[in-house]
This record gives sequence, C-alpha cells and structure tokens, in this order.
Amino acid sequence: MKTLNDFNFQDKRALIRVDFNVPLDDNFKVTDDTRIVSAKPTIIKILEDGGSCVLMSHLGRPKGVQDEFSLKHIVNKIEDILGVEVKFASNCVGPEAEEKANALQPGEILVLENLRFHEEEKNGDKNFAEQLSKLGDIYVNDAFGTAHRAHASTTIIAQFFSEAKCFGNLLAKEIESIKKVMDNGEKPVLAVLGGAKVSSKITVIENILDKVDHLIIGGGMTFTFVKAQGGKVGDSICEDDKMELALEIMKQAEAKGVKIHIPIDVIAADAFSNDANIQICDVKHIPDGWQGLDAGPKSLAIFDAVVNECKTILWNGPLGVFEMESFANGTIALGNSIANATQNGAFSLVGGGDSVAAVKQFGFEHKVSYVSTGGGAMLESLEGKTLPGIAAILD
Ligand code: AMP
Repeated sequence: MKTLNDFNFQDKRALIRVDFNVPLDDNFKVTDDTRIVSAKPTIIKILEDGGSCVLMSHLGRPKGVQDEFSLKHIVNKIEDILGVEVKFASNCVGPEAEEKANALQPGEILVLENLRFHEEEKNGDKNFAEQLSKLGDIYVNDAFGTAHRAHASTTIIAQFFSEAKCFGNLLAKEIESIKKVMDNGEKPVLAVLGGAKVSSKITVIENILDKVDHLIIGGGMTFTFVKAQGGKVGDSICEDDKMELALEIMKQAEAKGVKIHIPIDVIAADAFSNDANIQICDVKHIPDGWQGLDAGPKSLAIFDAVVNECKTILWNGPLGVFEMESFANGTIALGNSIANATQNGAFSLVGGGDSVAAVKQFGFEHKVSYVSTGGGAMLESLEGKTLPGIAAILD
C-alpha cells in the first residue's frame, strides 16, 4: 500500500483528489469544515517536502455549471485552514487549469473548479481523466467519501500514473482503521449496528458475522428480530418481509459462535414525536398504538457490560431516534460506554452517516479512536467490498 511516505515531493506537483464537499449556508459560508481540516495533514506534508499541490473536488450535485456550486466560495476557507494563499482555476480542465498548474512554485496551492461541472466526472470518462492527469506529477487520493465511486477523478485517473500514485494520510488512516476491525482486531471484537432498517444493513450483518464475537443490534432493526421470534412490537417500525432473514441471521450467528444482543426493553411512545407520551416496555410486549423509539435502561446496562468487555469496537447506526431529545438517551449512553472502553485501551471505529452525526452532536468525536469521513464508502467496506478508488491505487 503506497502512501505519502513512499515519495519525496520536492519540486513535484501533487494532484490530490480531496473531498471538499462541505455544507454551505445561504451566504455561501462553510457551516462544517471537518472535511477541509481532515485533508490538511496530506497537503502540509507535500508542501513541507518542497512540492506544490493541485486540489480537485466535487461540491454538491450540480447539473452542469451552476454558480452556487462553485468551489470559489470555499477558497477563503481553505486559505484560513491551511494558512497558505490559494490560487483558483475556473475550470478543472483545459488551458487555464494547465497554465496555472504549470506555473505553480514549490509551496503553492491551486484549487480547481468543481469536477462535477463536467458530466464526464461521474461517467468515469477516460479522456476527461487523462486531461485531469496532465495537472500533476504524482496522483494522491485522499477522498474516502467518494472512494466507492468509479468516477474519473477517484478511480479512472489512476491508470495515467503507473507508479506515481498513492493514498493520502486521511485515506490511509481510513483503510487502516477498517482493517483493524475487519482483519486484525484484538479480541473480543464487537459490532454495534443500529439505524432504521434491516434491509439497508443486511449485507453488512452477513459479512460481519465472520469477523466479530459480539453483535449488538439496535435501533429500528430491533423490531424485525423481535417480531420474528414471536414478540408483539405494537406500531414499531418493522419489516415483515425480512423476518425470515432475521431468523436466518440468528441461526448463522449461533453456528459461528457470535453472540447477538438485542434490546430487551425499549422507550415506547404513542406517536413519532418528541412530545409523545412515553413508557418503558418489555420489547416483546409493546401495546398497539405504541412504538419503540429508543433502547430502555435494562438493555443499556447489558450493552454497557458487553462494550466494556470488548477490545475492538465498530459502531454504525444510532440506537434510537436520536434526532429527538426524548429518544436520544440510548445513543448517548452507548457513546459513553464506547468512550469508556476506548479510554481503557479498546480500539473504536465509528462509521456510517447517522452515527457520525450523533457522535459529533453529543461530543464523543475525540473520545473514540477513529471517526470515519465516509458514509457510503464505509458501509461498502463493511460489506466486504473492495472500493474502486482504493483498488485503483493498489493496481
Ligand atoms: P441508518 O441511516 O440506517 O443508520 O438509520 C438512521 C436512522 O434510524 C436515524 O435517523 C434514526 O432516527 C432512525 N432510528 C433509530 N432507531 C429507530 C426506531 N426505533 N424507530 C424508527 N427509526 C429509528
């Protein structure tokens, strides 16, 4: 696996695929700069080597050229974060980009306009990738968030840099963290899978059964498993057509020696609302008209013990409807358990959209070992797939 350390960037121009797809408010101010901050170590290392950087990214989902999705809006933010003046090319390919890239001196940075202003980017167009490839001597992929897409700048471009290509620090860290959990995690290994639906996590569950000793299943998925075993789940979210699958998973887990833990009690509400009436229910006896929206206290005590027994922990998906304060307690309690286990030496990886949002919202970001920057890319990695953006560098 080639990383930045395999290259000396002195007098070299690095063409870096970053993920600067940051949220902007109505005045084009960046509201969350995590992705830019995360790319900083890679950029600084190359500049310190005596190299220059051409940064390319997408922003949003433009249809053709749309000013609101221009990367010019974030140039100032990039300058603030990197502490270096940043030049801008108003098209990511063509004469202006090439001239500005060629003129870069060691220590300088050029940001290219939105890659997705060209539909060739998402189509994985080879000619477009070749035009991009002219802008640098060494290709660096540091965009985990798009590593599961075979786009021109994330995958196809790599073929134009036979040896001169590597992972940036961020992408390398993502790969190592996933490996630590999926391939060589210190035992006992635990996965906590929450979120809304069995159907969106099924491939992850199946793949992960071969890797873990314990599996906590929480969130909305709980009720498909409970109903499949004969429980009464009231109006809780439940996928009846996945009940057989749930039983099959439990059978497989038993055969593989994996212990599955499902909530035994829940916070049930009489409406999907923060102001609903609530009661604590046995998970198998939820009255009609009531729905389970969070894990209950007995379950959380059991989960706390399991988490603290484990040395490697993966967390994907909230334990309840954490967006509403009344049903956030389970997710917060689990975060506390994982933070505690981490402090006592466990390795913990949090990944996948909503659990990352929860971890940030409740301040656990720096209390776990690693928070992944990729939603879809993380899920596909947990499903056991080799991501095209990663394979292209390994080739
Ligand atoms: P996912 O994207 O699959 O990880 O699902 C995350 C979503 O699951 C969050 O928006 C939660 O509000 C939701 N969720 C978690 N627990 C429940 C539940 N018991 N009932 C309904 N939705 C839930």
